Amino acid sequence: MPEDVKCPICGSETIERKAQKGPNVGSSFYVCNRYPECKGKVEIREEEDVDGFLVGQEENKLVSKGEATGIVAEEAKTIVTEEESSKSRTIALLLCLFVGSLGAHRFYLVKNPTAITMLVLWIIGIATAWILIGIPFLIAVGIWSLIDLILIIVGAMKDGEGKLVTRWET
Ligand SMILES: [Zn+2]
Repeated sequence: MPEDVKCPICGSETIERKAQKGPNVGSSFYVCNRYPECKGKVEIREEEDVDGFLVGQEENKLVSKGEATGIVAEEAKTIVTEEESSKSRTIALLLCLFVGSLGAHRFYLVKNPTAITMLVLWIIGIATAWILIGIPFLIAVGIWSLIDLILIIVGAMKDGEGKLVTRWET
Protein backbone atom coordinates (compact mmCIF):
# COMPACT_ATOMS: atom_id res chain seq x y z
CA MET A 1 0.00 0.00 0.00
CA PRO A 2 1.38 3.41 -0.88
CA GLU A 3 2.08 5.45 2.22
CA ASP A 4 1.04 9.04 2.57
CA VAL A 5 -1.01 9.38 -0.59
CA LYS A 6 -1.61 13.02 -1.43
CA CYS A 7 -4.49 14.44 -3.40
CA PRO A 8 -3.34 14.78 -7.05
CA ILE A 9 -5.27 18.03 -7.45
CA CYS A 10 -4.69 20.05 -4.29
CA GLY A 11 -2.03 18.07 -2.41
CA SER A 12 -4.15 17.56 0.71
CA GLU A 13 -4.29 14.34 2.73
CA THR A 14 -6.48 11.59 1.35
CA ILE A 15 -8.84 9.04 2.89
CA GLU A 16 -8.70 5.38 1.86
CA ARG A 17 -11.92 3.90 0.50
CA LYS A 18 -12.91 0.55 -0.93
CA ALA A 19 -14.80 0.39 -4.19
CA GLN A 20 -18.35 -0.78 -3.46
CA LYS A 21 -19.35 -1.43 -7.04
CA GLY A 22 -18.05 -1.47 -10.57
CA PRO A 23 -15.34 -3.65 -12.13
CA ASN A 24 -12.76 -2.82 -9.41
CA VAL A 25 -15.02 -3.74 -6.48
CA GLY A 26 -13.00 -4.32 -3.33
CA SER A 27 -9.92 -2.49 -4.59
CA SER A 28 -8.72 0.56 -2.70
CA PHE A 29 -8.76 4.14 -3.80
CA TYR A 30 -8.01 7.36 -2.02
CA VAL A 31 -10.20 10.43 -2.05
CA CYS A 32 -9.25 13.94 -1.09
CA ASN A 33 -10.19 14.84 2.51
CA ARG A 34 -11.60 18.08 1.10
CA TYR A 35 -14.23 16.14 -0.89
CA PRO A 36 -16.69 17.28 -2.19
CA GLU A 37 -15.02 20.71 -2.75
CA CYS A 38 -12.12 18.86 -4.32
CA LYS A 39 -12.70 15.82 -6.52
CA GLY A 40 -9.11 14.56 -6.25
CA LYS A 41 -8.86 10.77 -6.31
CA VAL A 42 -6.08 8.21 -6.45
CA GLU A 43 -6.90 4.76 -7.77
CA ILE A 44 -5.07 1.57 -6.98
CA ARG A 45 -4.73 -0.53 -10.08
CA GLU A 46 -4.98 -4.28 -9.97
CA GLU A 47 -2.33 -4.79 -12.61
CA GLU A 48 0.37 -2.81 -10.89
CA ASP A 49 2.19 -0.33 -13.07
CA VAL A 50 5.45 1.49 -12.35
CA ASP A 51 4.86 2.44 -8.71
CA GLY A 52 1.91 0.16 -8.18
CA PHE A 53 -0.54 3.01 -8.44
CA LEU A 54 -1.30 5.72 -10.88
CA VAL A 55 -3.08 8.95 -10.28
CA GLY A 56 -5.76 9.81 -12.81
CA GLN A 57 -3.88 12.81 -14.14
CA GLU A 58 -0.47 11.20 -13.89
CA GLU A 59 -1.74 8.23 -15.84
CA ASN A 60 -2.32 10.47 -18.84
CA LYS A 61 1.11 11.96 -18.49
CA LEU A 62 2.73 8.54 -18.33
CA VAL A 63 0.88 7.37 -21.41
CA SER A 64 1.90 10.38 -23.46
CA LYS A 65 5.46 10.11 -22.13
CA GLY A 66 5.52 6.49 -23.21
CA GLU A 67 4.29 7.42 -26.65
CA ALA A 68 6.83 10.19 -26.90
CA THR A 69 9.63 7.81 -25.94
CA GLY A 70 8.41 5.42 -28.63
CA ILE A 71 8.50 8.17 -31.23
CA VAL A 72 11.99 9.28 -30.16
CA ALA A 73 13.24 5.69 -30.39
CA GLU A 74 11.67 5.39 -33.84
CA GLU A 75 13.35 8.58 -35.00
CA ALA A 76 16.70 7.56 -33.54
CA LYS A 77 16.43 4.26 -35.40
CA THR A 78 15.75 6.10 -38.67
CA ILE A 79 18.71 8.41 -38.07
CA VAL A 80 21.01 5.45 -37.43
CA THR A 81 19.86 3.80 -40.66
CA GLU A 82 20.32 7.02 -42.60
CA GLU A 83 23.79 7.62 -41.18
CA GLU A 84 25.04 4.40 -42.75
CA SER A 85 26.20 4.70 -46.35
CA SER A 86 24.76 2.34 -48.94
CA LYS A 87 28.24 2.11 -50.48
CA SER A 88 30.27 -1.01 -49.88
CA ARG A 89 33.28 -0.78 -47.62
CA THR A 90 34.86 -3.75 -49.40
CA ILE A 91 34.70 -2.07 -52.84
CA ALA A 92 36.00 1.21 -51.39
CA LEU A 93 38.83 -0.68 -49.70
CA LEU A 94 39.86 -2.54 -52.87
CA LEU A 95 39.70 0.59 -55.04
CA CYS A 96 41.73 2.52 -52.49
CA LEU A 97 44.28 -0.28 -52.18
CA PHE A 98 44.91 -0.78 -55.90
CA VAL A 99 44.01 2.50 -57.62
CA GLY A 100 43.68 4.81 -54.62
CA SER A 101 46.26 7.29 -55.91
CA LEU A 102 43.90 8.09 -58.80
CA GLY A 103 41.13 8.88 -56.33
CA ALA A 104 39.10 5.87 -57.53
CA HIS A 105 37.62 5.11 -54.08
CA ARG A 106 36.61 8.75 -53.72
CA PHE A 107 34.86 8.68 -57.12
CA TYR A 108 33.10 5.50 -55.97
CA LEU A 109 31.96 7.22 -52.75
CA VAL A 110 30.76 10.24 -54.82
CA LYS A 111 33.25 12.54 -53.15
CA ASN A 112 33.82 14.20 -56.51
CA PRO A 113 35.70 17.40 -55.59
CA THR A 114 38.42 15.58 -53.63
CA ALA A 115 38.40 12.68 -56.10
CA ILE A 116 39.12 15.08 -58.98
CA THR A 117 41.80 16.84 -56.90
CA MET A 118 43.44 13.51 -56.22
CA LEU A 119 43.28 12.45 -59.89
CA VAL A 120 44.73 15.79 -61.07
CA LEU A 121 47.58 15.56 -58.53
CA TRP A 122 48.30 12.04 -59.74
CA ILE A 123 48.26 13.07 -63.44
CA ILE A 124 50.57 16.03 -62.73
CA GLY A 125 52.80 13.71 -60.70
CA ILE A 126 53.04 11.07 -63.43
CA ALA A 127 53.47 13.65 -66.21
CA THR A 128 56.32 15.44 -64.50
CA ALA A 129 57.97 12.63 -62.58
CA TRP A 130 60.61 12.26 -65.30
CA ILE A 131 61.93 15.75 -64.44
CA LEU A 132 61.47 14.96 -60.71
CA ILE A 133 58.88 17.76 -60.18
CA GLY A 134 56.15 15.14 -59.99
CA ILE A 135 57.73 13.15 -57.16
CA PRO A 136 56.26 15.28 -54.31
CA PHE A 137 52.83 15.08 -56.00
CA LEU A 138 53.03 11.31 -56.15
CA ILE A 139 54.20 11.13 -52.53
CA ALA A 140 51.29 13.41 -51.54
CA VAL A 141 48.63 11.28 -53.25
CA GLY A 142 50.35 8.15 -51.90
CA ILE A 143 50.08 9.41 -48.30
CA TRP A 144 46.54 10.66 -48.93
CA SER A 145 45.34 7.30 -50.23
CA LEU A 146 47.12 5.53 -47.37
CA ILE A 147 45.21 7.69 -44.85
CA ASP A 148 41.98 6.94 -46.76
CA LEU A 149 42.80 3.24 -46.66
CA ILE A 150 43.14 3.39 -42.86
CA LEU A 151 39.89 5.37 -42.57
CA ILE A 152 38.07 2.74 -44.66
CA ILE A 153 39.53 -0.13 -42.61
CA VAL A 154 38.47 1.41 -39.28
CA GLY A 155 35.06 2.39 -40.70
CA ALA A 156 35.60 6.13 -40.30
CA MET A 157 35.36 6.98 -44.02
CA LYS A 158 32.31 8.97 -45.07
CA ASP A 159 30.67 9.06 -48.47
CA GLY A 160 29.76 12.20 -50.42
CA GLU A 161 26.60 12.61 -48.34
CA GLY A 162 28.50 12.45 -45.06
CA LYS A 163 27.29 8.93 -44.24
CA LEU A 164 29.71 6.47 -42.70
CA VAL A 165 30.90 3.67 -44.98
CA THR A 166 30.54 0.69 -42.64
CA ARG A 167 28.83 -2.02 -44.69
CA TRP A 168 31.18 -4.77 -45.87
CA GLU A 169 28.55 -6.32 -48.20
CA THR A 170 29.12 -5.57 -51.87
ZN1 LIG B 1 -7.94 17.69 -3.13
